[in-house]
Amino acid sequence: MTRIYLDHNATTPVAPAVADAMTSALRTVFGNPSSVHAYGQEAKTALDEARSAVARLIGAEPTEIVFTSGGSESDNLAIRGVAEAAAPGRRHLVAGAIEHEAVLRTLKALDGEDRPTTLVRVDERGMITADRLAEALTDETALVSVMHANNEIGTIQPVAELAALARDRGALVHTDAVQSVGKIPVDVRELGVDLLSLSGHKFNGPKGAGALWIRRGTRLHAQLTGGRQERNRRAGTENLPAIVGLGAAARRLLEARGKGADDVTALRNRLEAGILAGVPGTAVNGGTSRRVGNTSNISFHGVEAESLLIALDLEGIAVSTGSACSSGTLEPSHVLRAMGLSPHRTQSSIRFSLGLGNTAAEVDRVVEVLPGLVDRLRALTGRGAAAAGR
Ligand SMILES: *Cc1c(COP(=O)(O)O)cnc(C)c1O
Repeated sequence: MTRIYLDHNATTPVAPAVADAMTSALRTVFGNPSSVHAYGQEAKTALDEARSAVARLIGAEPTEIVFTSGGSESDNLAIRGVAEAAAPGRRHLVAGAIEHEAVLRTLKALDGEDRPTTLVRVDERGMITADRLAEALTDETALVSVMHANNEIGTIQPVAELAALARDRGALVHTDAVQSVGKIPVDVRELGVDLLSLSGHKFNGPKGAGALWIRRGTRLHAQLTGGRQERNRRAGTENLPAIVGLGAAARRLLEARGKGADDVTALRNRLEAGILAGVPGTAVNGGTSRRVGNTSNISFHGVEAESLLIALDLEGIAVSTGSACSSGTLEPSHVLRAMGLSPHRTQSSIRFSLGLGNTAAEVDRVVEVLPGLVDRLRALTGRGAAAAGR
């Protein structure tokens, strides 16, 4: 059976050029970038090249880039690092209600350390409005964290507008751009933020490599202390092969200039239109006017999402019921709940996320298979689903 991968927001396959760059680094560059000798300098050069590529990708300076182990660490470093370095009178934190768990759980931990958080509600489209953010800001707000694109529904927040508002009140602004890098243009100056998180494995790079962009002059406390790597902001000998892979993934995007993303958008639209036309009782979740091109979150009325996910998996089709972190726990999506969707609709929603390698033939097969699967599951709903223990 040929398998079809439609879960690119969970992770992406490593692009061949990225794998080649990593293999070569692994085989030939083993020095410690902090060493003075030739081995070290060779490694330092590879590190610098990756840093330049990542900086160029987001319109930043190389010295503003801190390599991390991925999106979660970047989010942690941004939030904890800024909170700890903030002036004594600024202990308040603000974030959107639909942020990734890496942001929400970090804020929750800080809340227990006497750093209260206000979560800004989103509207039914999944958008944070300027009015709602304004209500949350105080003169004690140290940091506002608002994600660029949402991982479950793909909506793009008006980050530039929100950031301007927050900075007017003297707060710093962090954006989790893990789901926007590689899908839409990301430029730190245009966004007007102070910190930005990205992660390699969400744009055909390796897992375990990401970056935090920190605007020059921003006060931030390191969370990993030890050696002086990353300008004293993140101690520990660098994961060079992975960082080289991250750099190669960034270069790939720079060279593609958005072309790949356009192709993916066309496929997503074909899939979405096919499902809405072919399966009755379906609806798209979240606003569609400001949305990344690869994501479609659809509810199937009267169908348990987990059951549909498993049925699709048996057909070789990989999708998700929302954030990968909460799938398998049957915990309803906090994103869909925050948008005010009914529990029923929340439990019947599937996320399709496309990317590199997907084809029109794959999309057509999914559109062809879905009506039959949904019919079968609907026939079982109620007593059938309860008896199955779901
Ligand atoms: C995947 C993801 C993260 C976490 O990134 P990792 O590299 O897996 O730690 C953070 N935020 C968003 C929006 C994500 O999609």
